[in-house]
Amino acid sequence: MNVARAVGGRAALILVTLLACNVKSSEPPALALPERLEAPRADVAPASSASAADELVPTAPRDVERVVLITLDGLRWQEVFAGSGVEGAAEGPPLMPNLHRLVAESGTILGGPGCAHDMRASGPNYVSLPGYMELFGGRPPAACRNNKCGQTDTATVLDEVRASTSADQVAVFSSWSKYARAVTRTPRSFVVSSGARTANVRHLGDDAVLRAHLDEGAAHAGFPGWGDYRPDEHTRRAALRYLETVRPRLLVVGLGDADDYGHRGDPKGYRRAIGESDAFIADVDRAVSAMDAGGERRTTIVVTTDHGRERSLRHHGAGFPDSARVFVAAFGAGIARRGPTCASSPLRLGDVASVVRTLLRVETDAPDSSLVGEVVEPSPHDRARPSARMLAGASL
Ligand SMILES: [Zn+2]
Repeated sequence: MNVARAVGGRAALILVTLLACNVKSSEPPALALPERLEAPRADVAPASSASAADELVPTAPRDVERVVLITLDGLRWQEVFAGSGVEGAAEGPPLMPNLHRLVAESGTILGGPGCAHDMRASGPNYVSLPGYMELFGGRPPAACRNNKCGQTDTATVLDEVRASTSADQVAVFSSWSKYARAVTRTPRSFVVSSGARTANVRHLGDDAVLRAHLDEGAAHAGFPGWGDYRPDEHTRRAALRYLETVRPRLLVVGLGDADDYGHRGDPKGYRRAIGESDAFIADVDRAVSAMDAGGERRTTIVVTTDHGRERSLRHHGAGFPDSARVFVAAFGAGIARRGPTCASSPLRLGDVASVVRTLLRVETDAPDSSLVGEVVEPSPHDRARPSARMLAGASL
């Protein structure tokens, strides 16, 4: 199985690093212990400065019960890391203080400045639908080059998780309606509420409060997007309600206001939308902390984007190579506590699917991704049981 091999490889790398650097294993971690309030800026370490001691802090020995994957459409890494204290990041007040606080407490973020290897959407056209298809399908879509594509014909990580659980345990709430084309090759096989006019969603259940949130979203369709776009405010409310009441195994939340404000040439709106997304990340963390109360964290939160954008914020796509750059942050159960760090090899947007598969222990024939070793903490179970491939290698 891919899982054990990938994390086992990382464990070996960490051990070698520790010996080479002669770092004392008794050194306290540089990052502060969990604290619900704003962490001081000094807690955020510069990229690539995390010590080997940090990497050995255990996180989640028990299996992960659920993953919340949040996508923030068209966010540049420059804004994600602004004010974070990471070397090479813009100075000033942070735009995403909650994300960086939560990563410092129990997670890892990749894709920032000052690294030999970055993380990119595969493109070649850095727009949303090919990006989301790569993200959820685990590889670049063969036939989707723009936002006019139809439903994906590739089994996604959501389809894979759905295969081992009930329809209500996989759910998608997104502001952009075409998001639905990327999340599954089998529409209506689980909960998908994409865009404003999706109040009649199969498998949704009969929660009157959630229905009211969806109706409210439908009544406010459009701005800052166009047509059937559901403003993030309503997408966030519906997703949070579903998370708290159903506690699904995999919840995907697709927010998009920042991208649309960027296209409108409204930098203030773009930045405000980022701040609201950051507050939502804290809301999700509070909700899952309440679910996991009294025990170890059982939920992992993953945050990423579908593409970046160019400097003026208005554009992204094939003509804007900078818009290839993306980032990924993960924190909570099963995630290594490395803070802002650099990848040991180039990363792709599609690698995020491997992380979700690993966390939820989905068996797959998909190729290994080095991103798994970068962010997932090997559990004692993984350490104790060598993978089939490792055993095969040992017998040669
Ligand atoms: Zn866009």
